[in-house]
Amino acid sequence: MPNTQITPPDAYSQSSLKMFASCPGAWARYRRGDEYTPGAPLIVGSVFADLSAAYDDERRRARLAVLDGSHIEQVFDHVMSGHPEAAPYTGELRSLFVEYAEREADMTGLSEIEKEFAGVHTPKGRHLKGRIDRVYVGTVGVTVRDQKTDRSMLSRAAAKDDFQVRLYAYSAHRLYGVNTVIGQLEFVRFGSRIRDAEFGLTDLEVIGEEMDRRIDAVEAACETQDFPFTVGDGCAWCHYSGDCPKIASLSKKADAIVIVDEDSHRRVATEYLALKLRLGMVTDILKSWSTVHGNIDVNGIAVGFHLSERYEYPVGPIAKLLEAADMDPLMFAKIDATKIKKLAKSAPGIWSGIEAMRTDASRTEFREKRSKGGDDDAE
Ligand code: SF4
Repeated sequence: MPNTQITPPDAYSQSSLKMFASCPGAWARYRRGDEYTPGAPLIVGSVFADLSAAYDDERRRARLAVLDGSHIEQVFDHVMSGHPEAAPYTGELRSLFVEYAEREADMTGLSEIEKEFAGVHTPKGRHLKGRIDRVYVGTVGVTVRDQKTDRSMLSRAAAKDDFQVRLYAYSAHRLYGVNTVIGQLEFVRFGSRIRDAEFGLTDLEVIGEEMDRRIDAVEAACETQDFPFTVGDGCAWCHYSGDCPKIASLSKKADAIVIVDEDSHRRVATEYLALKLRLGMVTDILKSWSTVHGNIDVNGIAVGFHLSERYEYPVGPIAKLLEAADMDPLMFAKIDATKIKKLAKSAPGIWSGIEAMRTDASRTEFREKRSKGGDDDAE
């Protein structure tokens, strides 16, 4: 890295803090102003944000949950004309936007669209800055929502740990002076499913301290000018992956394939599928051998069958014991989806009541699925 002193910023955005946490080396390059070409996820995400903001502004003013097709086209053409860099992604953006615009949206309480904030400060007085896609002001608290064009979706439980949700919730707490904030992520590629989490005052105070700890780490690195490159999840989003010294040295050492473009991505995916297929075959062969001959020791690792301790407990008697101990048995109850499906068949009379109580627990999983187009990627 050339001899340029990297200094801490005056105000910290969520993307900057997130980037530093995943790879200080990438953060230092960005801070130094190293050039990069934004990739498709960044362009699609930011142009979609402009499209949805323009459209929601229109429907808020019209007090309508959805506008007609000509409005949708007008907004699309107008916003796209200001983004020549998005021309290669016109088809993808059009279908994302049309699907979004045709979904009815409840505008109740929507008070801010693309709310810019600056001057929000942490307990130690450091400044935060950013832009919240939507702010809804309610009677009890405030809801902040960020729209995601990600191709993966968090589980419901994971939203509370999401850094962006946490930072926006904390910012809303300081901006609006409320002690209850609901943070939401809206996954627009998945029918606008919402993943949300509620934060009370104690949670919000903990988040404030967490922000300060993260900023302490940035300032300490700037003191020593030590910005290590850290390979991890952030590499997939990194602007500098194409010319990263760490990736280059790792791939040389390990003879690994590095994903930097569509071609290498396809090669790695092909190799992954071939390895999985081979692994399945090898596993079957080893299972057959071990069933007859026992486990095989290789370098201190026993490959074969191992007993997994597993016990089951009767539900009814345990519920009675809990009640006798003045504990709520429902704390330990879990309704199994397979049993519910059986119930739907055996007791259709109560099915609609059960269905009404269902909450959406979907999330994306990394796995393979047969794609419709044969050679194309699976959705
Ligand atoms: S590719 Fe990974 S290791 Fe390299 S700069 Fe980017 S995030 Fe850091």
